[in-house]
Amino acid sequence: MRITRARHAGYCYGVQRALKIAREAAESSEKPIYTLGPIIHNPQVVKSLMRHGVNAVKSVDDVKEGTIIIRSHGVDPEIIRKATEKGLKVIDATCPFVAKAQQRAADLVNDGYNVIIVGERNHPEVVGLVAYAGHKAIVIENAKELKNLVLKNPVGVVVQTTQSIENLNRVVESLLYKVKDLKVFNTICNATSHRQEDARRLSRHVDLMIVVGGKNSANTTRLAQICRETNERTYHIETAEEIDGAWLKGVEHVGITAGASTPDWILEEVIERLKQESEKQEV
Ligand code: SF4
Repeated sequence: MRITRARHAGYCYGVQRALKIAREAAESSEKPIYTLGPIIHNPQVVKSLMRHGVNAVKSVDDVKEGTIIIRSHGVDPEIIRKATEKGLKVIDATCPFVAKAQQRAADLVNDGYNVIIVGERNHPEVVGLVAYAGHKAIVIENAKELKNLVLKNPVGVVVQTTQSIENLNRVVESLLYKVKDLKVFNTICNATSHRQEDARRLSRHVDLMIVVGGKNSANTTRLAQICRETNERTYHIETAEEIDGAWLKGVEHVGITAGASTPDWILEEVIERLKQESEKQEV
């Protein structure tokens, strides 16, 4: 059985950067270190950071002293202000691509645009983008949600960095029927585009596609959706233990990809397990 790993798979620049910042903070500080929410959407990595003294909290209210790390998704600037006022040290690990989208949202509002954010309304990155747009933005998840919206010109669009280009295209196409004055910032990051393009291409050529990453990770879930569109034998797993040997019956070629928050060691374990299961099938 052949196993092909997508060229772009696993940790992205923003996640690597946030993890490096968290590890360095843990090594250099005596006081407790916290992240606002899990630093990345990968339970295995979050557990390993806890062993190094980096713990996730839900809110600034849960922290009395020490350091708060803002994770790569970014936050409402009000939260940073609150933490600073409380005397906490704030380390901002917001991914530069997310920071760019935040800036675009703020600029559009300042320039008088009615802002639409394309993304998952409850995702922390989108919650932060809404705050940067002065809480005046409308969030839509897809083009269907535009149907009953009455929009005033001019309209400005920014996108959650991990959305798919197809979803953005459908939204923009629908908007063109509704408004005349439209400005679109494609704030989907390169890491996301590359992972999605590779996954789409690979899933067309294999018998089975495995997508590895946190079940709570938006970008991994989207990768799985994209693969499923072209290959219905797609499985989204978090760890190697979830692999069921029965999936491999009659399979000659397996494709593997992973979300931006999946470490390499988990991918390697998955590949190893697939090899073992494949050998069992051959016996
Ligand atoms: S997926 Fe893109 S925007 Fe998100 S952390 Fe990674 S590089 Fe940054």
